[in-house]
Amino acid sequence: MRRIEYNEWIKLVESMSIGAQNFYLKGPKDVEFVYGVPRGGILLAMKIAELTDLKFTTELNDKCLVVDDLIDSGRTMEKFKDYPFFALITKKENEWIEFWYENTNQDTEDLVVRQLEFIGEDPKREGLIDTPKRVIKMWKELFKGYDKKQKPRMAIFENGHDGLQYDEMIIDSGDYYSQCEHHMVPFFGKYWFAYIPDKKILGLSKVARMIDYYSAKLQIQERLVKEVLDEIESQIKPLGIALVMRGRHLCKEMRGVKKKGEMITSDLRGVFKDKPEARAEFMRFVK
Ligand code: ZN
Repeated sequence: MRRIEYNEWIKLVESMSIGAQNFYLKGPKDVEFVYGVPRGGILLAMKIAELTDLKFTTELNDKCLVVDDLIDSGRTMEKFKDYPFFALITKKENEWIEFWYENTNQDTEDLVVRQLEFIGEDPKREGLIDTPKRVIKMWKELFKGYDKKQKPRMAIFENGHDGLQYDEMIIDSGDYYSQCEHHMVPFFGKYWFAYIPDKKILGLSKVARMIDYYSAKLQIQERLVKEVLDEIESQIKPLGIALVMRGRHLCKEMRGVKKKGEMITSDLRGVFKDKPEARAEFMRFVK
């Protein structure tokens, strides 16, 4: 992650202001105002207004120079394509940039520090200095299931698009990792997924991704099964669809009763529910 502190920021703003001032004086277009794209561009626009003859505005008009702190894709620029547009920083792909006025991680890190103190640790101990930072970073990955933007897109094809008509059961299996919502400790295990296509065929690698996505939040095993099936079923409307999950729950194994034993949850829909043969065939794979 690249963090841009105030000192670096103000230097960038100053050099940008020179460009903005030039635009004002001899730009190709009449520019009188500076408009900041919410939210990151607002502070920047205010500062530029302070350093130049441009007037700060919160209402876009055709005498505006539009500024933003960051551009990562052309999307923002596309939206303001009719205006002169300046960005403080052009983000490289996969680069994570944080500005001094964004202090989201610090507050959260403090929570982890409190948590360390609560369990009896000394958060200043050498081995623990970077632990809050690491935990926050890991949470972003483990809990990506709360971020709708990270939901994987399904690869869906028309059944028969390659000259073959699929009407047999298609099966996938693999591992999953989630965290129980009662204790915030992991539960994990194996899953078996099957469907019988109707008009639409699914790219199977997406099943694993979808399970990853719905696992990446606080869950209970029963709901995880249902959410994954609801999602896939609504997109491909198959003749039948089924998911079985086995799970080891650390909240059960590490504490209290300390009992091993897997929990099994299943959801069988369509022909898997109505036709014993289809169900039996699928269940043969679930071992
Ligand atoms: Zn639990």
